Amino acid sequence: MLEQDDYMNLSKMNFDVSEEQALILEQVDRVCRQIRPVEDKCYLERRINDQVKPMFGKAHLLGLPVSRKYGDGQGADMVTYALAIERIGREGTGLRTFFSVHMALGQMTVQLWGNEEQRQRILTPATKGDAILAFGLTEPNAGSDPASLTTYFEEKEGKYFLTGQKMWISLGSTAKYVLVFAYPKGRREGMCGFMVDTETPGFRAELIGQKLGLPTADTSTLYLEKVEVPKENLLGPPGKGMSVALSGLMNGRLSVAAGCVGVMQDCLDESVRYSGVRFQHGKVIGKHQLVQRHIGLMSTNLDAAKLLLLKAAFTKQKYEENPSSLELREATDLAITKAKYFAAKASFDSANRAVQVFGANGYSFENRPARHLVDTRVTMIYEGANEILEQKIALGSLGKQFEAFS
Ligand SMILES: Cc1cc2nc3c(=O)[nH]c(=O)nc-3n(C[C@H](O)[C@H](O)[C@H](O)COP(=O)(O)OP(=O)(O)OC[C@H]3O[C@@H](n4cnc5c(N)ncnc54)[C@H](O)[C@@H]3O)c2cc1C
Repeated sequence: MLEQDDYMNLSKMNFDVSEEQALILEQVDRVCRQIRPVEDKCYLERRINDQVKPMFGKAHLLGLPVSRKYGDGQGADMVTYALAIERIGREGTGLRTFFSVHMALGQMTVQLWGNEEQRQRILTPATKGDAILAFGLTEPNAGSDPASLTTYFEEKEGKYFLTGQKMWISLGSTAKYVLVFAYPKGRREGMCGFMVDTETPGFRAELIGQKLGLPTADTSTLYLEKVEVPKENLLGPPGKGMSVALSGLMNGRLSVAAGCVGVMQDCLDESVRYSGVRFQHGKVIGKHQLVQRHIGLMSTNLDAAKLLLLKAAFTKQKYEENPSSLELREATDLAITKAKYFAAKASFDSANRAVQVFGANGYSFENRPARHLVDTRVTMIYEGANEILEQKIALGSLGKQFEAFS
């Protein structure tokens, strides 16, 4: 039987990855090195990087957390998965968002809630990049409070018809399937999640162009006008849409936390490199103590964020092995929330410090710190804004009877 000590006691946690899992990480590192010049070019030209799918797909890396039963699924354990996303995160938040959405919000949700037919039909092409997945929860008037969404479905002759608008949907213009959440028409309960085929008449996606950052990533507004969805594309039991969404967000947050740790690593690496080559006042700036302060803080925050991430990934793995444990589910949710909350704030701080270390050169998108600064900002907003996560974390200590909103 699983003892609480096995997942609550840091000194008992084991973050080792097997040789087989280490090979996955080596592959991820290799493709990340290959894609860097492509991502650099796309960033400066402010266009979506359309090479993510072919380059990672060729290396069979588009289904990391999916069981090997399906297509290119790699069956990565959660620690390996988090380390892989961390590595991708070093390349930038735009690139990493692709993986968080396609794998964490998309594949992991289908794997958890889908029936065997859905897993075969959707996950198999998804792991090969033949079907990209997106997650459509947010609407123009429903963000932190997704229960207030207004997209609705009607049921006719054994089919569903969805109408509504979704906003800020990552991969919305790229995806083959968007997991769209909707209420039955005229009701505010009984939310359902549907795998909507984006090639269905009545579905339209429009890229959001005027964004602060993430120029290489697809962020879209979706319009649905009586979009037909076959019965077999309902994901999870009818009326369980909110639970489906929340489980997706939990996985998404782990992935965001991992990406932020990657950003912090890159900011530190870039700052160390630059501090050793930039001369001012007759010495390299790395010899100036106030520059050292930036490096020291970045390094300390990186360790703290990484430990929170590893704890969260380890706990998540235990939960995956014991999915019926409610206690473990809550421990996982809390550990992931803390990791995401801390890493998002700390990654922004690291990017800000890296820009400072680079001085005016840090203000140019030619250099990585400027990109990280504008790109990682979103991690304090998406997949749970900081204020929402602060309250969630506080409840971990205060207890649910202190819940401010449901
Ligand atoms: C680049 C990008 C990509 C995204 N990708 C996706 C995606 O793929 N799929 C998807 O569904 N969504 C996506 N989102 C949307 C994202 O998840 C939402 O922006 C987020 O949930 C916050 O909602 P909101 O922007 O409507 O802010 P609001 O909910 O309007 O919040 C505004 C402010 O009020 C605060 N606030 C709200 N309620 C409370 C409260 N009860 N207590 C204290 N403070 C509160 C918030 O913390 C925030 O500071 C994306 C967003 C961006 C920017």
